[in-house]
Amino acid sequence: MGVAAQEELNVYESAEARFELAAARLGLEHGLYQYMKYPEREITVYIPVSLDTGEIAVFTGYRVLHSTVRGPGKGGIRFAPNVSLDEVRALAAWMTWKCAVVNIPFGGAKGGVICNPANLSKSELERVTRRYTASLLDWFGPERDIPAPDIGTNDQIMAWVMDTYSMHARQAMTAVVTGKPLDLGGSQGRKEATGRGLMICCNKATAKLGMKREGCRVIIQGFGNVGSEGSRLMHEAGYKIVGAADIHGGLYNEKGLDVPKLYDWVYRQRQPLPEFPGGGEKLSSQEVLFRPCDILVPAATENQITSQNAHRVDCKILCEGANGPTTSHADPVIEKKGIFIIPDILGNAGGVTVSYLEWVQDRQGFFWREREVNEHLQDVMEQAFDDVVRYAETHRVNNRIAAYIVAIDRVARALKLRGFYA
Ligand code: NAD
Repeated sequence: MGVAAQEELNVYESAEARFELAAARLGLEHGLYQYMKYPEREITVYIPVSLDTGEIAVFTGYRVLHSTVRGPGKGGIRFAPNVSLDEVRALAAWMTWKCAVVNIPFGGAKGGVICNPANLSKSELERVTRRYTASLLDWFGPERDIPAPDIGTNDQIMAWVMDTYSMHARQAMTAVVTGKPLDLGGSQGRKEATGRGLMICCNKATAKLGMKREGCRVIIQGFGNVGSEGSRLMHEAGYKIVGAADIHGGLYNEKGLDVPKLYDWVYRQRQPLPEFPGGGEKLSSQEVLFRPCDILVPAATENQITSQNAHRVDCKILCEGANGPTTSHADPVIEKKGIFIIPDILGNAGGVTVSYLEWVQDRQGFFWREREVNEHLQDVMEQAFDDVVRYAETHRVNNRIAAYIVAIDRVARALKLRGFYA
């Protein structure tokens, strides 16, 4: 792969390119620009862990606090072999913009440990988690920095983070982490939150473009948490899911897929998605993105729509569920086609929004019913959608750049109000 192609596929370069563009468009003064571009602080920890064999292994972990200007840092912990400080740094900045775009009172953070969870036993994983948390006791806290699950981590791992922190604090502190199990201060509606947020954005976009929801053709790439919950909710709401894909391949069916049966096939019967009986035309995981539809939802992984293939995208609305599914090099092609974009920092922000609601419930010690959580989520997402689209229209920029500008502007205004201490 050439250097130019490699650069295009670097998600962090993509995120940075958009930050630069938005900052320039906003006329951000140089000092503020520099302050926001770099993290507040970052740390590397070396975590000694006894393996089940009795040997000691040392893992490397990171935590980056990009911004606490608007509130405590918020961001996931990733357990993966390819975690790097650069990646964590970029993801932390992304969280700052995402929280600002939906206007929740959090800054941005991210963490990770270089390890392969698939090769660790449950007790080894627990020891890695507890020692990583113990190393960061001074960093984490409900008012400082609140982790959440990300690739390779889950609700059980969040429960261990909460327990380790609480043992040191000498009291139960559920609000130190979100994405916890329901039995331990988790929130109703968290599992569906990102998919629900996507649907709320699609509802707003279709209404805006005068499109009918009934029978509106949707293709969703990715059938994990975001893609499967998004498909189920949109199917229930009357959208016609004509395409679906996971890592094993994709399906396209003009008549619409029976999503509840497909969900059962993949999750209860544990069968590969493309083998779904009577599912329709079998395609590769990526090819499904280029079939005709009204709404395309890439909700699997990054770098799916690039400068090489963007001309083949055939939809009216592109609603990004994954982080970074479209490269910055593909942006002009998508824009030229007149596609209405719901960018990732808006489209998939339903997850962090319900994490915020979980933190609120933990702190107040009173838990809402799912209906109430969903109502709050809807308010937050609709307001954010309106803010972004209004800015895009008033200033004649695309929705992606508008989302970045709205976010950067909110952080800059908070920063100016706080001033610079000493
Ligand atoms: P997940 O691991 O539950 O599911 C990922 C899905 O994508 C699986 O169905 C997998 O088979 C499929 N997939 C992986 N690689 C693929 C490929 N190359 N082509 C087609 N399908 C592929 O993950 P998730 O939680 O659903 O997250 C999906 C994306 O959404 C990620 O980019 C994640 O960062 C982002 N996101 C997730 C949340 C959340 O709340 N879970 C919130 C915000 C953003």
